[in-house]
Amino acid sequence: MPKPDRPKPDRAETDSAKFDVDLFVIGGGSGGVRAARIAAGYGARVMVAEEYRMGGTCVIRGCVPKKLFVIGSHIRHEIEDAAGFGWTIPPVTFDWPTLVANKDKEIARLEAIYTANVEKSGAEIVKTRAVIEDAHTVRLTDGRPLKARYILIATGSTPSHGPRIPGLDHVISSDQAFHLQELPKRIVIQGGGYIALEFACIFAGFGSDVTVIYRGDNVLRGFDEDVRLHVRKEMERQGITILTGCTVDKVDRDGKIFTAHLSNGSSIAADKVMFAIGRHPNIGGLGLEKAGVVLNPHNGGIAVDGFSRTSVPNIYAIGDVTHRVNLTPVAIREGHAFADHVFGKRPVQVDHSNIPTAVFSQPEVGTVGLTEAEARAQFSHVDIYKTDFRPIKSTMSGRDTRILMKLVVDATTDRVVGCHVVGDTAAEIIQAVAIAVRMKATKADFDATFALHPTAAEELVTMRTPTARYGREAAE
Ligand code: NDP
Repeated sequence: MPKPDRPKPDRAETDSAKFDVDLFVIGGGSGGVRAARIAAGYGARVMVAEEYRMGGTCVIRGCVPKKLFVIGSHIRHEIEDAAGFGWTIPPVTFDWPTLVANKDKEIARLEAIYTANVEKSGAEIVKTRAVIEDAHTVRLTDGRPLKARYILIATGSTPSHGPRIPGLDHVISSDQAFHLQELPKRIVIQGGGYIALEFACIFAGFGSDVTVIYRGDNVLRGFDEDVRLHVRKEMERQGITILTGCTVDKVDRDGKIFTAHLSNGSSIAADKVMFAIGRHPNIGGLGLEKAGVVLNPHNGGIAVDGFSRTSVPNIYAIGDVTHRVNLTPVAIREGHAFADHVFGKRPVQVDHSNIPTAVFSQPEVGTVGLTEAEARAQFSHVDIYKTDFRPIKSTMSGRDTRILMKLVVDATTDRVVGCHVVGDTAAEIIQAVAIAVRMKATKADFDATFALHPTAAEELVTMRTPTARYGREAAE
């Protein structure tokens, strides 16, 4: 395939005699791929090393397959809701292996697209592990040393296992959950964050009996308190058991049955025990120490400045490996900014504020900006607008569910500084609201916007009276 026209690199700039490539990217995930493509577009000679599959966590064992599973499991709700609208649906069956096989086919398709896009940009992919030897040298698995003007570490993250409890080998992570040969009838999931709740709802949707074990007092720590309460209530309504204030301390296996022993003295038998207790940066065996790349003592990721530059001036790091904000669109933005800055001569820094995020639990959580607690800590006067209502669909489906919508307003400037939604399509709603929040829209702007009727999201522009107002005098 002919290579596209791209600007010729300035010889003095790329110093091609001295370096084999201008940029060596370690990791073919979303962030690394974006950086490689943009850098190649600027005329840089780029090589991307990926030891597993192009696409990284998001495409291969994260966001994309997870969303496919969420969509698949949500169909159960549609089937259950149908009777109220006049449908008689004969008894349905669900085949887990079909879902897994079709998901695998889609992931393979996306992997091929990722590969093709990188190659089309003019960058070269090498399917190998790469170890940094010094500031400008990378060694590939075949022993080949490569000299690179710049190195970008985009190796992502991997599931954490927590402390070495007895029977930890029997525990699966989200990586294995995507490839189970059969649907577990009963599953115990430890964790109260994104992955634990998303998989709890996925398995419950497919008919598994799900127990969530969380060490704190309520799930989704760090999210708005009303969101946390609402999500828990909604999940419990669907029959998911959420046990808080305890941990899994030991796991036994007897044939195909596993028993999770909890810190509160009780135990639960299940067909699978899964931990979703955070992810840690992939920094092992990369040669960081030898190259002089320093870690961030606060989060264990690679320490970087606002331009994603590490302690070694020509080595950069982006995405989960820096453990800043572990979200795919953030890694992509960081990779793009890196390439613009280093190869496009445009000093771009990523602004990590107001990043919209969603937990694809069922119902979904969509959130952007500050929680009520954060706003009250930051601003002297805060108004809260909150509503909690039955979606129109459930009036006929009979489903016992409610939607939560909440706006957090800095009452001094009238700016909407936070928006939180729990309900079907919350993620889609928040993506659009994030534009308004980023543009510093005021509550008056929300009020002046016409409602789109009948929708759930119209509540965001029709809440007129604050449900709570907080004020404090400025500190002396
Ligand atoms: P999270 O950080 O979201 O949640 C980890 C959970 O595990 C928390 O509830 C935490 O408790 C608990 N935990 C941590 N350590 C232990 C331990 N030793 N024993 C028991 N419980 C423990 O991590 P996830 O694994 O859910 O996801 C990793 C990251 O991936 C997310 O933070 C997010 O950035 C990203 N992600 C994003 C998604 C999305 O955008 N939809 C989907 C999936 C992942 P505590 O709260 O007390 O610390």
